[in-house]
Amino acid sequence: MIIFKSARELAIMREAGQIVAECHALLGEKIKAGVSTLELDELVEGYIRQKGAIPSFKGHHGFPASICASVNDVICHGIPNGQPLKEGDVITIDIGAKVKGYHGDSAWSYAVGQVAPEIEKLMKVTKECLFLGIEQAQPGKRIGDIGHAIQTYAESLKYGVVRDFCGHGVGRELWEDPEIPHYGHAGKGPAIKDGMTIAIEPMITMGRWQVKTDADGWTARTIDGSICVQYEHTLAVTKEGPIILTQL
Ligand code: MG
Ligand code: MG
Repeated sequence: MIIFKSARELAIMREAGQIVAECHALLGEKIKAGVSTLELDELVEGYIRQKGAIPSFKGHHGFPASICASVNDVICHGIPNGQPLKEGDVITIDIGAKVKGYHGDSAWSYAVGQVAPEIEKLMKVTKECLFLGIEQAQPGKRIGDIGHAIQTYAESLKYGVVRDFCGHGVGRELWEDPEIPHYGHAGKGPAIKDGMTIAIEPMITMGRWQVKTDADGWTARTIDGSICVQYEHTLAVTKEGPIILTQL
């Protein structure tokens, strides 16, 4: 069931989204070779709690940390650890914060120092995929229009679009209806309507889209070891168009 949000609820979700955006701004300054993902997790958790919010991911289905930290071929749900990041790595940090019962959810990929030109291009294209998807989040469109826009663009450049993980509604639950695939057919799926709050989060790979999961039960990698990056925003659908909630 899709839960539509009131103006009062949107205002709270904007508060949650702002805290997530502030965490990403902090990370942008902090991420460099030698820093461990565990340190980044502590930084983000500390910031979220200092703001009186709750890290959405900690304990969510048993996830052990406040951020997901996914390096290179890891697609998502990487568990922070003590290993230092290396020059040339690319890392996706996914963050959720809950304020007054409502969540904000946003993932961003970061270059560790100087990355290879092909990784730079993948990052640029994946960010473009996110904004192409957001552009479709308008009343009168359908959920399939979002995935179609993303898939068409990514595959035209021979990239893979991950299918095992999708975008989703966001609100009192971190994952609400509707499920939002980043692939699909234009004009299909649930109608997009004013008052929906959704997260769009394309995961784009340099190779195949298939996934394998590590023995920890969380860490999802590309099956062929290719690099994967991801950008995600939580947004509100309004009559005036999409409003990004997880942007400063
Ligand atoms: Mg997320
Ligand atoms: Mg999400």
